[in-house]
Amino acid sequence: MSPTAGRTALATAQRVVVKIGTNALTNTTGRFHRPHFERLADELLTLAKTRELVIVSSGAIALGVERLGLAAKPRDIPGKQACAAVGQSRLMRAWEEAMNPRLVAQVLLTHSDVQDRRRYLNARHALERLISDRVIPVINENDTVSVDEIKFGDNDTLAGLVAGLVSADALVILSDVDGLYDADPRTHKNAKLISTVETVTRTMLAAAGGSGSSVGTGGMATKLRAAQKVTELGVRCVIAAGQTPGTLTRVFEGEDEGTLFEPQDGRRHARTAWIAHALKARGTLVVDSGARTALLERKKSLLPSGIREVKGNFSHGDPVDLTDETGEVFARGLAAYGADELRKIAGKKTSQIEAALGYRGLDEAVHRDDLAVL
Ligand code: GLU
Repeated sequence: MSPTAGRTALATAQRVVVKIGTNALTNTTGRFHRPHFERLADELLTLAKTRELVIVSSGAIALGVERLGLAAKPRDIPGKQACAAVGQSRLMRAWEEAMNPRLVAQVLLTHSDVQDRRRYLNARHALERLISDRVIPVINENDTVSVDEIKFGDNDTLAGLVAGLVSADALVILSDVDGLYDADPRTHKNAKLISTVETVTRTMLAAAGGSGSSVGTGGMATKLRAAQKVTELGVRCVIAAGQTPGTLTRVFEGEDEGTLFEPQDGRRHARTAWIAHALKARGTLVVDSGARTALLERKKSLLPSGIREVKGNFSHGDPVDLTDETGEVFARGLAAYGADELRKIAGKKTSQIEAALGYRGLDEAVHRDDLAVL
């Protein structure tokens, strides 16, 4: 794909994750910079009119430092955690006010939430619902129970995971750097900003080195690693300057802004490949011929009504094989319900799920996005 085509694709990206680093929200002394924040929020509000928007926001620690009246960000991890806990509610209040009249939702995640299949699905389903209700999720790391981002990330890795989690079309990382340079711009006067990166290489990662600032945690290296991960999942990624007015708007107009990392085509289906090959099935769902056709030809999800028989013992989130009535395995997916629950709702209509289980989860037994056709 030509560089311009990649930029144009950003103009039509439907579901976008924007990560806002501490540096994009604070001034040089590390204080929360409200005018800055409000200008960014304005751009995000405009963006959210035509796209599905998910925000990953840092800034809890910076706001906590301010609220606690500390001279500087604590150096020890528990100190940072305490600041994050104090600052998180302020951060959300700021988002709530700035994004008004749109609604925002606080979502606190950790890396292990995304690695655990069950929690992964729970988080995804909740986020999907928020997005379809036109609520804007504002995600931060749950700093009380996880210190990955406080230690090295400034939410860069989390943003990458979230982009994969919601199957975003694009991830934009806003920070205090303009993008990726061909040399360190602090030491090389003639360093040039790279407009498009086809593939993140080892050499680039090695050259990226440490953090450039004292307020945020993640340096170029964590940003590059996040870019590498999401592009391998087929998500387009841009690293750009958060403090320059209009950056975000220009990125989504397809202009040459920051550094664009192209998605890696061959691995676009990494997630389904993972479901198909890396996971061992814990059970089997035998489906009727109507459901088989709907799954294979119309690319639908599997509804409980199409299930004839449930074999094995598995919990919700576990991988299951899908077979037709002759026993031929034609797909594998993650079950949205456990085996016992599926036995109760197999063959039943969506409207009967609640009466059969006493609660209503998803309409689908295996959602299309969690399904790999073999
Ligand atoms: N989760 C942290 C916050 O919101 C990340 C910031 C950092 O690592 O500097 O403040």
